[in-house]
Amino acid sequence: MKNCVTLILNWYQEYKRDLPWRKDINPYHVWISEVMLQQTRIESVIQYYNRFMERVPDIKSLSEISEDELLKLWEGLGYYSRARNLRKAAIKIMEKFDGIFPNQYEDILSLPGIGEYTAGAISSICYNLPHASVDGNVMRVYCRVCNLDLDISDLNVKKDIKEKVEAILPIESGDFNQGIMELGEVICLPNGIPKCNECPLQYHCLAHLNGCESLIPRKISKKEKLEEEYTLFLIKCGEKYALHKRVDGLLKNMWEFPNMEGFLTFDEVKEKVPGTLRVEMGITNTHIFTHKKWYMNSYFIEVKEELSEYSWFSLDEIEKKHALPTAFRPFFDYLIKK
Ligand code: SF4
Repeated sequence: MKNCVTLILNWYQEYKRDLPWRKDINPYHVWISEVMLQQTRIESVIQYYNRFMERVPDIKSLSEISEDELLKLWEGLGYYSRARNLRKAAIKIMEKFDGIFPNQYEDILSLPGIGEYTAGAISSICYNLPHASVDGNVMRVYCRVCNLDLDISDLNVKKDIKEKVEAILPIESGDFNQGIMELGEVICLPNGIPKCNECPLQYHCLAHLNGCESLIPRKISKKEKLEEEYTLFLIKCGEKYALHKRVDGLLKNMWEFPNMEGFLTFDEVKEKVPGTLRVEMGITNTHIFTHKKWYMNSYFIEVKEELSEYSWFSLDEIEKKHALPTAFRPFFDYLIKK
């Protein structure tokens, strides 16, 4: 792998994508983009990133934004705890580091929500510190180049690869980390056939030379997702709609349409929601989380009076002020069109 370092650096210089957070070397920009990239593909992140930077251009504004507004900006990206941690980290930077993003690895790692991967990325990209940022892309490229038939979901394997990558890091550690990651994203593809004939490592990659690149890394059968069924109540009173804040579990503290576990019948819905004027079937949606799959039915319900257990908002207020998790978004779109 050592003989590939210069090839990766040269390839990155020539082919790196023009991305908004690469316009300057600013740890705030790198930080926000890295956290967004942990959950969504680059193409989608760009619009979220630009919108985020318009409203929250620096650490100070991030430390001052309300949680509700922050979650609204994050709407659609999922993993809302990451957004909350961004704010907590910004407050810590204001209080402990005088508002200046820290430039030491341990200090960066001490910030809420920042793990080894993100600390490695920020410290190498912004300060060229000798830390690797090892994600699935890096592990795949590494295993293929070295022809290692390993299970990359094993944390010990990840730790080992990180140490090996850190041992060969050049002075330009940031460019190397970004280069190997980008190579994994656009050339050494995870699914389907890697584009070996476009790869700068093709004459050094042992898996390719042995014709076994598509067998590496080892495929591990994924655990079955836990399946759950819900019935959503899309309750309307006048021009307002009922929302509820989730109190625990998945999506804790996020707004949701009132719901109950299980698929309820028409009569059961009437029984559960008092004062109904009209009940009709709504749409269905399936949402897949990392470990769960939700099947959701819905009923559109009109009521005489606002029920006190819920908060009531117009569709415009929901759209502008309250973040709805992606799982519930199709139901909101349905209400908009109705
Ligand atoms: S030669 Fe093929 S398998 Fe090897 S690193 Fe390049 S794209 Fe991946």
